[in-house]
Amino acid sequence: MTNVTVINHPVVQTKLTELRDYTTDTREFRALLNEIASLMLYEVTRDWPTKPRPVQTPLEKITGVELARRVTLVPILRAGLGMSDGVLALLPDARMGHLGVYRDEKTLEPVSYYTRLPPDIAETEVLLIDPMLATGGSGSAAISFLKKAGVTNMRFVCLVAAPEGIAWLHQQHPEVPIYTAAIDRQLNEKGYILPGLGDAGDRIFGT
Ligand code: URA
Repeated sequence: MTNVTVINHPVVQTKLTELRDYTTDTREFRALLNEIASLMLYEVTRDWPTKPRPVQTPLEKITGVELARRVTLVPILRAGLGMSDGVLALLPDARMGHLGVYRDEKTLEPVSYYTRLPPDIAETEVLLIDPMLATGGSGSAAISFLKKAGVTNMRFVCLVAAPEGIAWLHQQHPEVPIYTAAIDRQLNEKGYILPGLGDAGDRIFGT
């Protein structure tokens, strides 16, 4: 599949298996999700551009590097919040935007209820995060909001993707790279990913 990177690192996969386990409680679930988000970040950011940065070491002057653009993290509410701390652990200077999109349980269509983005988001590297890429409806709607805000550099980061969701995002936004820790088998009739890990929001927030 083009424009999809599956991060099948053994440590990520071990933690993902723990997440899938239905006996994993809320506290462990949150910790694991953030750990995986941090680990995935290495791959997601691997080819980000840098610019020269002169520094004085205790011994000499050298020219090192720093990220060329600022970073904006945009979790799709509410489950995306479950990965935010893991990303911020690596990128503590990132700003955060919020997109509230929920899925209508009958139509499975995305409904937007909250948008708050940094004003200069268009000049930044944007990481759009949501643990589950299921139908792709909310992901696709979120990407459309970001495009309207002028964003051109964005990556979609999830934990588990359904083939249907990947296909939909590719159809709607083929240029947006997707990073995931797993591509699962399929969606069920209620839009849940199989085998998946259940409702990520409920498992993160204990609802
Ligand atoms: N959202 C979830 O939290 N889980 C799924 O399986 C699908 C969508």
